[in-house]
Amino acid sequence: MKKLIDYKSLDFIKSRIDSYSSFIITTHQSPDGDAIGSSLGLHYFLKLIGKESKVINCNPTPNYLKYLDVNNEIEVYDKSKHYELFQKCDVIIVLDLNNLKRLVDVGDAVSDSKKEKIVIDHHIEPENFADYYYVDTEIASTCEIIWNLLSLFEQDYTIDTANAIYTGIITDTGSFGFDRTTEKTHLIASDLIKHGVKPHKINEYIYNSSSLASLHLYGYALKSIELFYNEKLAIMTITQQMLKDAGLGEGELDGFSTAPLRIDSVKISLTIVELKEKGVFKLSFRAKNGNPIRDLASIFGGGGHQLASGARVKETTYESLKTKIINEAKNYII
Ligand code: 5GP
Ligand code: MN
Repeated sequence: MKKLIDYKSLDFIKSRIDSYSSFIITTHQSPDGDAIGSSLGLHYFLKLIGKESKVINCNPTPNYLKYLDVNNEIEVYDKSKHYELFQKCDVIIVLDLNNLKRLVDVGDAVSDSKKEKIVIDHHIEPENFADYYYVDTEIASTCEIIWNLLSLFEQDYTIDTANAIYTGIITDTGSFGFDRTTEKTHLIASDLIKHGVKPHKINEYIYNSSSLASLHLYGYALKSIELFYNEKLAIMTITQQMLKDAGLGEGELDGFSTAPLRIDSVKISLTIVELKEKGVFKLSFRAKNGNPIRDLASIFGGGGHQLASGARVKETTYESLKTKIINEAKNYII
């Protein structure tokens, strides 16, 4: 019989943390503010309460989030150096993701490991690869869950943890603008500010740390927007040539994909990024309230949240992919 996902309470997760001493934390590919924020927020706290902790990720931290890694502690996975560590630590904590595929090569080290695995996340329908799960799909960010978890401990958290958690909340709520932002989100933000977070500083790091090349690329990406179905569907395209011209990598497009939603009539937006690997495309779906697009993303093998989902697809050409998506999308425009 297929084993069911073992959902646990945060009290249970706390009791596992209390009873073990060495931890590896890891998070998804192309890590965003919530991924890095939740990883470092928890990592700093574990060290503070006397645990051994390492953050080992499949991809490097993007530049605009490096300020959170104050002592340059995040390690980028290298099989020869890290595989054994995943087999030896007491517990592996996987944050802000719902399937092993999104751990890329770290996924093998995790699935081979016989050690305890705990997932803490806010995505719908996780894959069953871990021992214990704490999943809250109503909550806006994994960072908010980490704050709830830390509040169960007697030990107070430090400013480094506060900055990390605040960053994840800001990035995953669109600065308190997305639908899952609640009164509690603001109360947590208030507590983080009490612990020393300076909102204007975080805002500078996240939103005002672009390069000229990135801003130029953003301009070209905006120029590429095409509208379909009475201007309700927007498609933005970033090609390898555009990335080459800008001298940027495909991992340096954070924040681009919500832009087409700024158009009044647009309900659903799709950003297609042509990846280096021939015939492979990254899709980023974004939607306004009332137009859930997660099922649309899952048609293309992806997933995520109701209003922000993604996928990676292999397709012969950009044109055929676009035609397919336009055909499927018409069923999701409300
Ligand atoms: P983004 O478009 O920013 O890469 O991703 C938006 C959301 O979609 C992320 O929070 C993540 O949950 C989800 N997502 C992105 N790419 C994939 C993917 O390839 N597979 C799955 N299952 N979810 C994805
Ligand atoms: Mn998240």
